[in-house]
Amino acid sequence: MGEFDLIARYFKRPARRAVLGVGDDCALLQPRPGTQMAISTDMLVAGRHFLTETDPCRLGHKSLAVNLSDLAACGAQPLAFTLALSLPRVDESWLAAFAQGLLALADAHGCELIGGDTTCGPLNICITVFGEVPVVAGRSQALLRSGAQPGDDIYVSGTLGDARLALDALLGKTVLPDDVLVATRLRLEQPTPRVALGLALRDVASAALDVSDGLLGDLGHILESSAMGATVDADVATSLIAIRALSIRVRGQFNINLSEDKWRRYALSGGDDYELLFTAPAHLREAVQAASRASQTPVTRIGQINAEPGLRLIDSQGQPLANSYTSFDHFA
Ligand code: ADP
Ligand code: MG
Repeated sequence: MGEFDLIARYFKRPARRAVLGVGDDCALLQPRPGTQMAISTDMLVAGRHFLTETDPCRLGHKSLAVNLSDLAACGAQPLAFTLALSLPRVDESWLAAFAQGLLALADAHGCELIGGDTTCGPLNICITVFGEVPVVAGRSQALLRSGAQPGDDIYVSGTLGDARLALDALLGKTVLPDDVLVATRLRLEQPTPRVALGLALRDVASAALDVSDGLLGDLGHILESSAMGATVDADVATSLIAIRALSIRVRGQFNINLSEDKWRRYALSGGDDYELLFTAPAHLREAVQAASRASQTPVTRIGQINAEPGLRLIDSQGQPLANSYTSFDHFA
C-alpha cells in the first residue's frame, strides 16, 4: 500500500463543516463572524511520550485527546485538526486501530480531520487542532494563563497522579495488582479532554491551563504569567489520586505500598493528567460548581492565589511543607 492509498483508506473523510478537507494542497476553514480561531499543536514521539507497544486504538485516542485538552484549557470549541504522521512501515492492522481510536474521539467532539502529512520514519504523531472562541463586545472569551488575581481560588478537575502511577508500574518501577493496573492505565492511555468544562468556565475562570507536566510545575506557569504567588493544600491534591482513594475505601482488599511522600509526588508532579487547572474569584464559587455540574466534571478547590510571589505548600493542618515536587521537563 502506497502513501496515497493509505491516506485515502484511513484518513480521508468527506468534509462537513470545513469548506475543504483532505485531498487538496490546503484545507479551508471559514471562521464564523464574531469568533477567533484557537490553534494548538502537540507532538507524540514513540519511546518518549508513549511506550512503543501501546495499543494503537488508545494511542489514536490519546494523540487527539492531548490536543483537545489544550483547546479545553482555552475555553475553545473544537472544530478541526490536521495529522502529521511518521510511520516506520505500513502495518494495516495498526493503522486501522489507530484511525478508529483517533476518529471516534474526533466524532465525539465534532472535530474533523481536514489534512495532514504522511512520511516514512520513526513513529511520531503530530496533531494541530483548530478551535473557535467567541469575541464579545470586542473582547476574546479565551481563557488565558495570565488572569489570576490575589484571593482567587485554585481548582483542578477530575483526578491526579494515576497516569504517572500506571506508567511507573508498566516500567516496573512500582508494583500494582493486575486489575488495579488495568483500571489505572486507562488514565495514562485514554485521558478525557475536559472540553465541556472549559466551555462552561469561559465567563467564570480568571486563568486556566491543562495539567500535562505535573500540577505544581504547571501551576507555576499561571503564577509566572499572572505575576502572582499561591498556597496549595498538598493533602487535598493527594486525595485526588483515584486509585489511592479506592484503596482507602476498600481497605484490606488490595494494598499499594507507597510512602505518603511518594503519593504526594504522584499528585503534585506526576504529569500526563490532562486535567484543567484554573483560578476563579471567591465570589464565583457557586458559578464554578454550576460549570462543574453542567459539564458533569468534578472539580476540587486545592488552594488560593496570593499577591506574594512563590508557591507555598501546606498540609491539611495548615502546616508548611517543603516543595521539592518538580515537574517534567524534556530538556532538564
Ligand atoms: P502535498 O504533497 O501537497 O503536501 P500530500 O501528498 O502530502 O500533499 O497529501 C495529500 C493530501 O492528503 C493533502 O490534502 C493532505 O492534507 C492529506 N493528508 C496527508 N497525510 C494525511 C494524514 N495523515 N491525515 C489526513 N490527511 C492527510
Ligand atoms: Mg505533504
